[in-house]
Parts: sequence; C-alpha cells; structure tokens
Amino acid sequence: MTIFDWQNELNRDGHRVVISGQPIAMHCHHYNINLQKTLEETLGAEGVQLLYRSAEETNYNSLQHLFNQYKKIRSLKSKLEMTSLLYQNCGLGIIHFRKVRPTSAYIASTSSHHVTGWLAKHGRRETPGCHFTRGWIAGALEVIYQRPLGFYIVEERQCKMKRDEACVFHVKER
Ligand SMILES: [Zn+2]
Repeated sequence: MTIFDWQNELNRDGHRVVISGQPIAMHCHHYNINLQKTLEETLGAEGVQLLYRSAEETNYNSLQHLFNQYKKIRSLKSKLEMTSLLYQNCGLGIIHFRKVRPTSAYIASTSSHHVTGWLAKHGRRETPGCHFTRGWIAGALEVIYQRPLGFYIVEERQCKMKRDEACVFHVKER
C-alpha cells in the first residue's frame, strides 16, 4: 500500500513504539499467554469476554484514529488491506479477509502470535482459543462499516490451538 508508509509510520519515539503517533504496547508470548490463561482459569467465560472486549475496544479506537488520519484509504478493499497489514506489523500474525459483507464475514488466519505462544507453553487445546483475535476483528469491522462497538459477534469455528489447519472466524450481527 503506497498511501501509508509503514517504515515511517511504525517507529520509535525514544523508548516508545508508536504507530502514526499512537503509542502501542508490545508484549512477548509469555506475558500474553499467561494473561489469557489466568483470565480463563480464574474468571471462565467472563475472563474470555474481558479479553475479547479489550481487544475489540482498543482496535476500534486505534483503527478509527488511523482512518481519520488517512482519508485516502476509502474503499472496502484498501481498508481491509490496511487492517491486515496493521495486524501483521504489530506482530500479531496473518489474517485473510475471505468474504466480507456488512452483515457477515469470514476470515482465516494461518499464522498467529497467540497460537504459537499457546502451543509452545501449553500444547494443544480442546477448545478454540483466539479470543484476542476475535475481539480485534470485531473492532476492525465495526470501524470499517461504521457500526457501534459491540455490533458484531465473532466466533472461531476452527483453531490452530486445537491443531486445526487454520483459525477460521465467522462474523455476524449480534
Ligand atoms: Zn485460533
């Protein structure tokens, strides 16, 4: 994408890492996976929801900020491209938007920070575990389709943490 120069926009400001002026926090898999495991084990479904909502809200705000700054990123295609590049550049992994409509979407992820981290620390899971990515995708599509926070619900139907071939996310209206 030529409108957005990643090398200039994703940079260091002293000890801070910033993207288009917004500071971002980066954590290794030890931190992120321990946080997830602690939330799941102590709070159960409520902990999962906390992780999901935090990722949704944070990404909603930062993507909103980016699109407000870069008015030339207008079409659905360029917004989706920007979104997956942001995910990738933040070290979160690869997401492919396969079928995206205002009422539903289907997204696949073939590589993920959380999957690699979970498998390295805890091995295979019995249930899908990409709660962070589910929330992140919900926030992204709510910005792209100018919907309020919480408008979409994202389910993970296949997950590499269960040793499925890819993580597959389905999006629908709540
Ligand atoms: Zn997954």
